[in-house]
Amino acid sequence: MDTASANELLQEAARRAIVYVQSVRDRPVTASAQALQRLDELKHSLPRTGLEAGEVLRRLDEIGSPATIATAGGRYFGLVIGGALPATIAANWLATAWDQNACFRWTSPIVATLEDVSLRWLGDLFGLSGGVGGAFVTGASMANLAALASARHALLSRLDWDVEARGLYGAPELRVIVSEEVHITVLKALSLLGLGRERVIRVPTDRQGRMRIDGLPALDDRTIVCIQAGNVNTGSFDPATEICRLAKDAGAWVHADGAFGLWALASPDFAALTKDFAEPDSWATDGHKWLNVPYDSGIVLVRRAANLRAAMSASAAYLAEGVAGNREPSHYTPESSRRARGVEIWAALLNLGRDGVAALVERTCRHARAFAQGLEAHGFEILNDVVLNQVLVSFGSPETTRAVIGHLQAEGICWCGGTVWQGRTAMRISVSNWATTEADVQLSIEAIVRIAGSIAAGICT
Ligand SMILES: *Cc1c(COP(=O)(O)O)cnc(C)c1O
Repeated sequence: MDTASANELLQEAARRAIVYVQSVRDRPVTASAQALQRLDELKHSLPRTGLEAGEVLRRLDEIGSPATIATAGGRYFGLVIGGALPATIAANWLATAWDQNACFRWTSPIVATLEDVSLRWLGDLFGLSGGVGGAFVTGASMANLAALASARHALLSRLDWDVEARGLYGAPELRVIVSEEVHITVLKALSLLGLGRERVIRVPTDRQGRMRIDGLPALDDRTIVCIQAGNVNTGSFDPATEICRLAKDAGAWVHADGAFGLWALASPDFAALTKDFAEPDSWATDGHKWLNVPYDSGIVLVRRAANLRAAMSASAAYLAEGVAGNREPSHYTPESSRRARGVEIWAALLNLGRDGVAALVERTCRHARAFAQGLEAHGFEILNDVVLNQVLVSFGSPETTRAVIGHLQAEGICWCGGTVWQGRTAMRISVSNWATTEADVQLSIEAIVRIAGSIAAGICT
């Protein structure tokens, strides 16, 4: 492709992307049946000769864009899904053009530098005392894995066992304590690490899903305790103060899964909720949820960087640091070649600043409270204490609640998912997107109330 054609193609891609970004807030959240039908047009065999690049782009946009779910708009409240701040889309575009391999400092000095800077800023933002290590991975799943690998390394090396070299065959046994409300990705990480998904000790939780301290077994220096900052249903936080104090006395490792909740550490409004979440030995969080950077983006943080490095290094020889004292990114990640996802984290943090991150968290939580108040005012039951950005609503019987969710999703004004919370079927509303406005919340409440009313009146089932 010559330079002029490449220029034209990239301009056209930017133009189409901008049209998408501008229209995503106003279109239905779900893809229409017609849009899904058109996906069949993509299911042909691989052509013998390739298509012109402009035609590839045109097809992608014309068939692809309508078949997306508008998670980037302001009225998608399923799972815990953020949007993408314009500053991060822009940074992503430029970084994609750079096409850097973030593996080493010498393959990309700029990306290694932005990772260093972002890690320092994150440590600062979360109030973690100096020298935390970290890495930029695909999501909290991989961050949980990297953090728990660090824990496994630290506890076993203290027992003179080199787990990276010798594996778990014949190793001293470790104990892993989780809560009944542990996220499945923590269990998956444990299964990948040979620590066993089912071999964990599960601590019971209270009505908000918080670990009950009176159910916590005695800790020792062969124990990893997994706590949670932000329950996916209720938004609640485990009692970090007591757990971290007991763990410190016993020499146990505390890992905090804070995929979205960790960002609440940025706002003084949530100081009571987040108290002592700076105390654990490791943390997992996501950039692509509450920080609102594009997929995929997770962050692992480990208090003593050496533990992450020892767990993630490919081999002692492979490893020699490039330039003395400089962090070599690949020594801290499960992957080798990687895209430059630190760039978007850096862009988000620089664009928002400390106050902007706090404001984003505070605003979305205010929207969550507005949902709870608005729906409660119409006589619907809120099942959780709305301490963060998650709201659970019941519309009566499980069948009725499921019917409301089904109609709401099909209509497409907004999108909320379903869950079962402590035996009760509920609609779950997660407000995590920077783009959500008060008008979006009001429009969504109206749609929910109208649909619930129709179902109650027997107009639809
Ligand atoms: C979303 C989430 C995860 C998994 O994160 P991914 O980014 O999907 O890998 C883990 N823990 C909690 C609490 C979550 O909300």
